[in-house]
Amino acid sequence: MATEAAPKLVLPDDTRFACESCGDCCRNWPVPVTESDLARIRSVDWQSLATDPELGISRQVPLGLGRVVEVLRQGPDRRCLFLGDDNLCRLHAKHGGAIKPVVCQVFPIQFLDLAGEGDSETRVGLQFNCLGAASGAGPPLSEQRAELASLRKLLREQWPSSPAPETAELDDGLSYASRRLAIVLDRLADELQSPDLALRDRLLVITEVTGLLAKSRFPSLEPGKRDLVAEFIKGTRSQVERGVITPPTGSAGLPERLLFRQLLAYRTLDHAPELTGRDPIGRTSTGLQRLIHALRWTFGFGTIRFRDAETVSLRRTRAEAPTLTLSDEVLAAPLSRYLAGHLRGARPLSEALRPHGAMAALGLLLRQVPMVILLARAACLLRGGRAISEADVLRGIRAADLSFGQFLLVGGPFNRSRQNLLRKLDGVWRHLTWCGVRAA
Ligand code: SF4
Repeated sequence: MATEAAPKLVLPDDTRFACESCGDCCRNWPVPVTESDLARIRSVDWQSLATDPELGISRQVPLGLGRVVEVLRQGPDRRCLFLGDDNLCRLHAKHGGAIKPVVCQVFPIQFLDLAGEGDSETRVGLQFNCLGAASGAGPPLSEQRAELASLRKLLREQWPSSPAPETAELDDGLSYASRRLAIVLDRLADELQSPDLALRDRLLVITEVTGLLAKSRFPSLEPGKRDLVAEFIKGTRSQVERGVITPPTGSAGLPERLLFRQLLAYRTLDHAPELTGRDPIGRTSTGLQRLIHALRWTFGFGTIRFRDAETVSLRRTRAEAPTLTLSDEVLAAPLSRYLAGHLRGARPLSEALRPHGAMAALGLLLRQVPMVILLARAACLLRGGRAISEADVLRGIRAADLSFGQFLLVGGPFNRSRQNLLRKLDGVWRHLTWCGVRAA
């Protein structure tokens, strides 16, 4: 019998991960489980490892239209029933990692299968709301090939998923083969991590080249053709170095400001409503909570909430938190690692963002820059710091990434105008001052 050939894993050298055993992924999030996961857990003495075992291992969450998803049970404090006081999984500690639900084994890795010419390939990315992923410690993904290949196989066996479509829409009427666009994203990631340019200039090259890409300046990305992307990156870099290209200045227009506030509102939502299910009543209630939350942010009354439930107001953060410049060392390494990790990974071309077009996904990714900075300032203020530290930036990255690409932020009746705004990358620069970046 013919078996499906294993796809080639695309594993970046400079995306690193090692679990820091913080236990954060075992709190707050719903962990979906399959029958196979439950059968494995039931085959061991799970009752002795669970909190309140009489309540069972899992519960059903309605998804609407009669559909349900089975998720691991959580305590009132939203801790998984198997999470110990030492922040370690009691199932893993007693029976090894392979006993855990597949979703737990795979987190924070993301896989994206790309079909296309030749063998299929799988891009491997990370969710940066994970401390181990955001801190960039641990071995590079390229050294974890065998383990990642087994995880992908396990995931696809229990949670089948189709490969991403062969083409990715970049802008109205312009699309590229996903495999070719992925190569361009890799080049942008290389540029983002180039050591001989300041972060501001690297970001400028990226936004400029991405903007050009969306205006059909690269009619073909096919193999064998002149490498126009490399030439454009080189030319743009030279113009940035000579000061011919400079960042847009001035504040954002009203529609862009509203969009950005809404994005921030989603970033700072208490994610509890996501756990209550998506039946019609749950959906309406969640929708209303989001609307009220977004309106508060729109009028500047937002509250920044971190996953450990610490909160600080937007107004206080903007008025009192230390500011920073884009050339501050503390920002450059983690922020460029974060953005490059996503460019080389799965999320910008993923199913969650694809309906909105790859350009809107890139616009969303690059708007993470001002968000991370604002959230890092909030983290600094909360600990009473006098200057922003790398730990604050990591906390900002984790909070900003919490819902990056998870929600249909560009859905609803204003879908088209939001998509158009997201595609305009000057918006990325126009929020920097508002978020607390001062001129170098
Ligand atoms: S089963 Fe273990 S790894 Fe999975 S959420 Fe629970 S404590 Fe965490």
